[in-house]
Amino acid sequence: MHPILFLAAVASSATAPAPQEAAARPLQVFKMQLGGFTVTAFGDGVFELPTDQLLVDPRPGEVAGLLSRQHQPVVQPTSVNAYLVDTGHRRILIDSGGGSYFGPALGQFPQALKAAGYKPEDIDEVLITHVHADHIGGLAAQGVRTFPNAVVRLAAVEQAFWLDRANAQKVDASVRATFDAVEGSLRPYLAAGKVQGFAPGATLAPGITAVALPGHTIGHTGYRITSRGKTLLVWGDVMHVATVQRIDPAITIKFDSDQMQARTTRVAILGEAARDHALVAGAHLAFPGIGRFGKVGGSWTWTPIASSASKAVAPALAAGAVAK
Ligand SMILES: [Zn+2]
Repeated sequence: MHPILFLAAVASSATAPAPQEAAARPLQVFKMQLGGFTVTAFGDGVFELPTDQLLVDPRPGEVAGLLSRQHQPVVQPTSVNAYLVDTGHRRILIDSGGGSYFGPALGQFPQALKAAGYKPEDIDEVLITHVHADHIGGLAAQGVRTFPNAVVRLAAVEQAFWLDRANAQKVDASVRATFDAVEGSLRPYLAAGKVQGFAPGATLAPGITAVALPGHTIGHTGYRITSRGKTLLVWGDVMHVATVQRIDPAITIKFDSDQMQARTTRVAILGEAARDHALVAGAHLAFPGIGRFGKVGGSWTWTPIASSASKAVAPALAAGAVAK
């Protein structure tokens, strides 16, 4: 890989008539080369995650202890990231941010996309890791498709489960609004015949394979992107609070539809990623959320790819120039 590309931190007011509440915040755009593909990470924003209310300790008090020993606050600022794979022929988005579902905390993705030099019409496909609102909320606004030329693809079981409101009693109250998000964000694509379900492990395009990672939701899916021998696993919501879950991956979150399965999936994919020294991208790992896990005993280390490159760059770079 020829890494380093850039982290663009540009005042959003410099690029677009931004919503007032977002005007003062920097846009988050990070580009890297993966073989012949260009991968761009977009920050949609940051939400506050109250670990004492949402994380589930296998050993009561463990989360509080892990946070306090690392001098970390109980309420964890949590990134929401989306990724774009530009193969040179097709532009394939993975997740779409939260749109307007989370108020001013999220919803910066459209401006970040523009800052990276792409238009919504450029997107050929959107691959969805799962249908929670922070992943599909950006697909549509007021019932209108944001990406008019895109086909939305997701695991067939995910689509079937969340389109059936009879399943509402099977999930935690904290994620029940997902059924509304599906109506608002996925329905416009369904109505246009632009949704395709796929089976676990499906090959979706040359170099892009679905990886079933069930537990967080029934059809939660990662995407393995491979070009010229370089690989990136975009794993969605395998991990929400890396500060504690990489130390004890048995810690789950109420958002997980199936706590036991989410735990099993996390341990398995972490082991695989560490063994392969694989590059991982996570929707809720600190922006850009790309790096590598290493295994030490029963815990994992995390090395962000951008740790040495996290600096603001000139707005001109954010318009799509690639730093060499
Ligand atoms: Zn999420």
